[in-house]
Amino acid sequence: MRIRSINAEKMGLSNRLTLLNLIRTTPGVSRRELARLAGLDPSTVTKIIASLLEKGLVVEHGVRDADHPGRKSIMLRVHREAAVALIAEIGVEKTRIATGFLDASFEVLDEFDTPPEENAFFSAFTASLRSKAFGFEHPEYCALSVSVPGMVEWGSNVLRYLPHMGWRNVDFEARLGHLLPEMHLPVFTANEAKLSLIAEMFQNGGVSRLHSGVYVYLSQGVGGAILMGDKIIHGLSNTAGELGHMTVDPSGPLCHCGNRGCFETFVSIDTVVKNYERRGAMLPNDDFRGKFRSLLRLFSEGNVHAREILDDMGRSLSTGIANLVNILNPDFIMLGGMGSILPPSFVAVLAEEVAKKAPGAASPAFLLTAASLGIESAAMEGATLMAMNHFVKKAIK
Ligand SMILES: [Zn+2]
Repeated sequence: MRIRSINAEKMGLSNRLTLLNLIRTTPGVSRRELARLAGLDPSTVTKIIASLLEKGLVVEHGVRDADHPGRKSIMLRVHREAAVALIAEIGVEKTRIATGFLDASFEVLDEFDTPPEENAFFSAFTASLRSKAFGFEHPEYCALSVSVPGMVEWGSNVLRYLPHMGWRNVDFEARLGHLLPEMHLPVFTANEAKLSLIAEMFQNGGVSRLHSGVYVYLSQGVGGAILMGDKIIHGLSNTAGELGHMTVDPSGPLCHCGNRGCFETFVSIDTVVKNYERRGAMLPNDDFRGKFRSLLRLFSEGNVHAREILDDMGRSLSTGIANLVNILNPDFIMLGGMGSILPPSFVAVLAEEVAKKAPGAASPAFLLTAASLGIESAAMEGATLMAMNHFVKKAIK
């Protein structure tokens, strides 16, 4: 009997989680629609919604016409301010801190140039948190959730390797706790590509029902995240998804990792920008993201040199992506980071090239797509979701 009652309890928790997550992803949904979407009895839904309303996690906001003529549906959404988390994104060039909310939205509080040296970074980060997040009457934060440009040990907050900054084995939570002892928050750290994929699976209806895919994070360097059977793969030492260092040409250019011809030495945005500028024409803007945007603009305007450079990028991308498809046969490949702004015509040609090299990509069910969330928001939303998942599990007990 005891076992049955424990199962029933767990079931209740998971039904509540399911409904709350459905309301988070489909604002304005009605109780009747929730029952259909979750496959639950309408009376169970009514009971659970009553408890979510009572806890202040969900609010009713207006009515609209229901599917049946003459009937009205009450629209439900999550109460955005029911939980506030501190969010940070450590980027190779810039670091941002923000407040994140229950509906996965966020508001940036501060941005500063990322000092690559470890001690300098931690003092700048602490100063920013002190002045922008704690230096005045602030909401009660439920967690600090941080996106990191490198390999993170899932669950322990140890940053194993940040290649562009040269950090190894940094215990993020311990370092921060030492410098900011007044902060008593649960801390979560995760790789930027994994967080971006989490945000897409949550927000993007085109992939949210798929079970396997690879997120290719194009930026300075190339990262990635692999979803298999609805789970993100971490691997033996948390390096699963480091697509940037798969060899695509053993006699290719030297990579900062010490090997030759890594995927990122052909397709990272800094490489592509440098390849263009090496031909004599400089791109406007002073950072690589701005320059890459300018290059795409020239490509869309039909500039011959820009087309040649992006054709080269496309060929190398198709080789790397075909390798991934041949090994994993995933439902989708998503071009994220700066890949999210690659023009549709570029993505269409890329899909044809990949299909020639990998039979799995020739299936009509296979999807090669640009990410729906841009580089400025994907990892931040993922970090917000990571904090909110922690909050929600505690709040609905
Ligand atoms: Zn490499």
